[in-house]
Amino acid sequence: MHITYTAATTAAPDSPNEDFFAVGDGWALVLDGAGRYPGESGGCIHPVTWIVARLGLHLSSCLSQQPEQPLTTIVRSAVEATMADHGSTCDLSDPLSPGAAGAIVRIREDRIDWLVVGDCAVVIDQGPKGCTSVIDDRVDHLPNAPIVEGQVRTYSPAYVATVRNKPGGFWVLASSPDVAEHALVGMLPGHPAATRVLLCSDGISRLTERYGLSWQDVLALHDSTGPDSLIRAVREAERSDPEPQRWRGKRHDDATVVVMRVAEA
Ligand SMILES: [Zn+2]
Repeated sequence: MHITYTAATTAAPDSPNEDFFAVGDGWALVLDGAGRYPGESGGCIHPVTWIVARLGLHLSSCLSQQPEQPLTTIVRSAVEATMADHGSTCDLSDPLSPGAAGAIVRIREDRIDWLVVGDCAVVIDQGPKGCTSVIDDRVDHLPNAPIVEGQVRTYSPAYVATVRNKPGGFWVLASSPDVAEHALVGMLPGHPAATRVLLCSDGISRLTERYGLSWQDVLALHDSTGPDSLIRAVREAERSDPEPQRWRGKRHDDATVVVMRVAEA
């Protein structure tokens, strides 16, 4: 089975890139750092870029060395290893510990496995059989969530502390290995000939969630002008947005996309 990969990542203007991607033999992953709230340490002294890099390293290592393990087992191991890396300087019992959203895809001869947690997406395109997207939007459907209207719409840290990495709330890859059991996981059986799989952070998926493109549009743009053109398209849409404060989140965000393509059978 021959798989090709294309990828692009760019930071939001004037900030470090807290996204991360990696690809290996039949797998790919995208991470999107879930940072701190202003004035909150999250109990951790490390920059979000460090946490994302550690998670990315441990996930990549598990995916390469334990190809038969379920993705949930791999996520549990990688979160535990990253927690150990923090060392004694950090209080990982803080419910606001910085971490990351993530998407992982593994393509095998007889199936495609995926795992999504937080603001990352997986889109599987089977051509005439259609396009399936996996998005974890639990953070947008929290019960009785009080929204703070500021420069952007957001949740208060006090509220987030009650629902983050808790059953019935939303999950991120941070300081709870149990995230593995609460991630969205799935499997597409059969030989994946002529299938494409896109993984991205929400800096890219806002093309569909905010700016009216379909996933077929996104994939067609990728095919015609490459992964960088998706980042250009999202920056153009953000700059032309007359009212970015209507969204929960930033005007610009780090944007990362990976596309895996399985050759024809
Ligand atoms: Zn730390």
